[in-house]
Amino acid sequence: MPKKTVADIDVEGKRVLLRVDFNVPLNVNSGAISDDSRIRASLPTIKYLVDHKAKVIICSHSGRPGGRVVDNLRMAPAAQRLSQLVGLPVSTVSDCIGQEVESKVGTLQEGDILVLENLRFHPEEEANDPDFARKLARLADIYVDDAFSTAHRVHASIVGVAKYLPAVAGFLMNKELNVMEKLLHNPERPWGCLIGGAKGSDKIDLLQNMLRRVDMLLVGGGMTATFLKTQGYETGHSLVEDDKLDLAKKLLQEAEEWKVPFLLPVDAVVAQEIKAGASIRVVPTTDIPAGSHIVDIGPKSIVLFHNELRKCRTIMWNGPMGIYEMPQFAQGTRAIASFLSTLDATTIIGGGSSAEVVQEMGLADKMTHVSTGGGASLKFLEGATLPGVEVLLDTK
Ligand code: ADP
Ligand code: MG
Repeated sequence: MPKKTVADIDVEGKRVLLRVDFNVPLNVNSGAISDDSRIRASLPTIKYLVDHKAKVIICSHSGRPGGRVVDNLRMAPAAQRLSQLVGLPVSTVSDCIGQEVESKVGTLQEGDILVLENLRFHPEEEANDPDFARKLARLADIYVDDAFSTAHRVHASIVGVAKYLPAVAGFLMNKELNVMEKLLHNPERPWGCLIGGAKGSDKIDLLQNMLRRVDMLLVGGGMTATFLKTQGYETGHSLVEDDKLDLAKKLLQEAEEWKVPFLLPVDAVVAQEIKAGASIRVVPTTDIPAGSHIVDIGPKSIVLFHNELRKCRTIMWNGPMGIYEMPQFAQGTRAIASFLSTLDATTIIGGGSSAEVVQEMGLADKMTHVSTGGGASLKFLEGATLPGVEVLLDTK
């Protein structure tokens, strides 16, 4: 069911609580924002609200502070970057609910922008606590959700708050939903999905559903060793999700039964230690040396993946092929990104890390869509209704 967007309601003079995803990657050393694309992605909605004379109250989470105040996860750097990007002053406040916040909101003029403090400093946010949701809602007249990437979470600022306010989609949310709807209901075939990254336990569950939808499934990155181990191969010290071994095995069997090509890397880059300057080797994945770590896919796997993906008219890529944060282990991930950018198939990049690589390599414009939502897009493709989308008003 299509959802109402911010363009379908009158926001003039209204206090608008805008949920965004300003959970931007920060440089580990300097604390500076290393990729501001999530902030940029929310600009159309923010500019629209400012131009239409709303009082804009922005809220977001950042990182995983676990329900307490963590100083280097404050929203100030994101607010500052937003101010540069919109060319307008952006004020901040030291909390996201409470007396001080309410007074601050009371002083807002039409077109003003206020960024609230990190929602996850309160444990009630992730618990979807109704009282916390009510306190958030009290700040505003209208709720706009532009955080597609968190729409699969049942949190107070995503689900709870919509009980108390008219709730509509922002432009980014709307765009992401449209892209995913197309993928779900009428993708151009063949359509292939390449999944990497390290959130294995989350993603392995989703692979099963993907298997029913796609024409081929390719797996690299941090899930590789789990699949190798379930087939009885040595995996050294590589990341293995021991509680997912049975599921991994079942997936391989189902892929065979349903005749869906399911490709794993045939070779891997292994290192004795995960650190810069580590000595590395390329080995077949059937021959991982004891004591080593799989840190990337190998050159033969890159060619294999390219050749398979080349057959597709639609490709979704989610999750890096290796520990790409270290340049030595980034080749597989970078090779996939470059390759996808040359195709004229529909290319959809999901997942924070894969999107970051694509941005950093300057390839975003060459992809059909770089999604801001990783987990959310996978959930959506499962066919699940996202709780954060469900609570938004329908167009009819
Ligand atoms: P995304 O954000 O793209 O959805 P994830 O969050 O699932 O991806 O995982 C990203 C992380 O996966 C990165 O920090 C990367 O270092 C890690 N990773 C990729 N391959 C491996 C591997 N072989 N072993 C350990 N970690 C890996
Ligand atoms: Mg991630």
